[in-house]
Amino acid sequence: MAIKLLLVEDNSGDIELIKYYIEEIEGLDIELTYVKSLDDAVGCFKETSFDLIFTDLNLPDSSGENTVIKLLDNVNDVPIVVLTGMDSYELGMNLLKKGIHDFITKEDLNSRILFKTIYYVIEKNKMLKTIQTLAYKDSLTGLYNRAGFVKILNTRLDAILDNSIALIYFDLDSFKIINDVFGHTFGDIVISEFAKKVQEILNDEHVFARMDGDEFVILIQSMTANKEAEGIVAQLFSTFCEPITIHEQLIKISLSVGVSLYPQHADNAEDLIKFADIAMYKAKEKKGYSQEFFSNEMINGLEYRFMLNTEIHHALENDEFSLVYQPIIDTRTNRIYSVEALLRWNNKKYGHISPVVFIPLTEFSHEIVPIGIWVLSEACNTIKLLNDSYNQSIALSVNVSPIQIQEDDFIESVIQVIKNSQMDMTKLTLEITENISFTNDSLTIDKLTILRNNGILIAVDDFGTGYASFNRLNSNLLSEIKIDKSFIQSDMLYKSSLVTDIIRMGQNLELDVVAEGIETKQQLEYLIANDCHLIQGYLFSKPLSFEDLKIFITNYG
Ligand code: C2E
Ligand code: CA
Ligand code: CA
Repeated sequence: MAIKLLLVEDNSGDIELIKYYIEEIEGLDIELTYVKSLDDAVGCFKETSFDLIFTDLNLPDSSGENTVIKLLDNVNDVPIVVLTGMDSYELGMNLLKKGIHDFITKEDLNSRILFKTIYYVIEKNKMLKTIQTLAYKDSLTGLYNRAGFVKILNTRLDAILDNSIALIYFDLDSFKIINDVFGHTFGDIVISEFAKKVQEILNDEHVFARMDGDEFVILIQSMTANKEAEGIVAQLFSTFCEPITIHEQLIKISLSVGVSLYPQHADNAEDLIKFADIAMYKAKEKKGYSQEFFSNEMINGLEYRFMLNTEIHHALENDEFSLVYQPIIDTRTNRIYSVEALLRWNNKKYGHISPVVFIPLTEFSHEIVPIGIWVLSEACNTIKLLNDSYNQSIALSVNVSPIQIQEDDFIESVIQVIKNSQMDMTKLTLEITENISFTNDSLTIDKLTILRNNGILIAVDDFGTGYASFNRLNSNLLSEIKIDKSFIQSDMLYKSSLVTDIIRMGQNLELDVVAEGIETKQQLEYLIANDCHLIQGYLFSKPLSFEDLKIFITNYG
């Protein structure tokens, strides 16, 4: 392929000379274009691309350093060689620092020097580009990395006229768990497959980058970036609402998305990125597939989160945790079927904090492991005491995080705790959220099977939100499914057959089906009419302290 060389030179004699030298060079195929002014050179660039520019400093419409500065601004990454009558070391150094590739005095020019210069500059430029690629691209996905993205965003902001920009910032909600369960190699595959799928939604105008680990960002620039962002987010959610298969594993990828806007929220790259990130964290507080546009109030929220993270390290030792118990009623007998233990955190500085906020923090730091054991122990002791003193046999459900199951001594510690409490194992159900712990991860299944063989029951919590597709449910292992409250509390309950399908399937597999989050009589009647009799929700009772639970069982026990 011919090397396209642009010569910017107003002296006809010099042009002829260079043409002559070029003809003399053997082994390099050069296609020479020449223009006689800076304006023409810039104009030329709008139409053709060149591999290399040779320019004089003094032209009819520009002189000295300005020629170089103007060219650098207009020719992107094309290497520039200055060819001048002035023989000045200082000038040469100065221009090299500005970004030109070489500086030759016309007096020294001959075909050998010309050959070497062209050859070296083009090679050096290729190397520079490789280095830039390494610095600006992510090696796993081939997307821009943070540095590359910041560079592009800055360039866009510098040149922006009346357009607006939206940044969509998002990450994978349970990526940490995917990494912990399946290992980092598999985690990498998930990231790159995920990136490919996102890319399919986007067009050439969008800039897509991997910022860090499982965090990504999309840049949209248009008159209606705001609206366009909403459309892209909707497409992201609909793409990933179904689980995807990666290496024969079904992986459900749930996203949290934050959006920031130029010029509404900030006018510089650093703040736009930071604000989109903050909005994403806010979205994370809602469970899965949520989006938030940035707002100023969120900044306080982020500081709050950060402070919570410090506070929670000491929560266990400072005795700040307690348990409440929510009854599950069997409507056929109108008696308590069991109680679910739910963790509460009352911090001396921040007061009551919702488990939806703090459980993910403890999962991230793995502090959920000792906390989970504390929950199990406290709950078993309490319910054993209750049953003994009231002559009852109320069953207990305890939530278990997938992070706990990953621990090597998970089984031993669970069995030890139950033995210590002298609680009847067959009266204990462990609730495990329907997520990756129900894929074909054999280690998890093996561990749960051992517990099951010891008499402990296993329930799938939040059923319907994850991807334990119906036919994957292992009815030897499981004894119960809990229909997620989001299905109960939306209109879908009556309009879609999803809930009745789950009930039917549970019955076929001889599993108990518990419906969660029942707040109204209408919901209750619908469920009973469809043969679901195990009911948990505010309609019967909110989660109760031990004292209140004792009162409750005197009515329902
Ligand atoms: P979950 O396991 O799905 O627990 C049910 C949640 O629904 C509880 O929220 C409960 O208070 C709430 N709920 C029950 N009935 C109703 C209702 O009628 N209406 C409404 N709006 N809500 C109702 P809570 O206590 O805030 O817990 C939230 C989540 O935190 C739990 O969801 C569970 O995933 C997690 N969690 C709580 N305690 C523990 C624990 O000890 N260990 C682990 N790993 N997770 C826990
Ligand atoms: Ca639960
Ligand atoms: Ca649940």
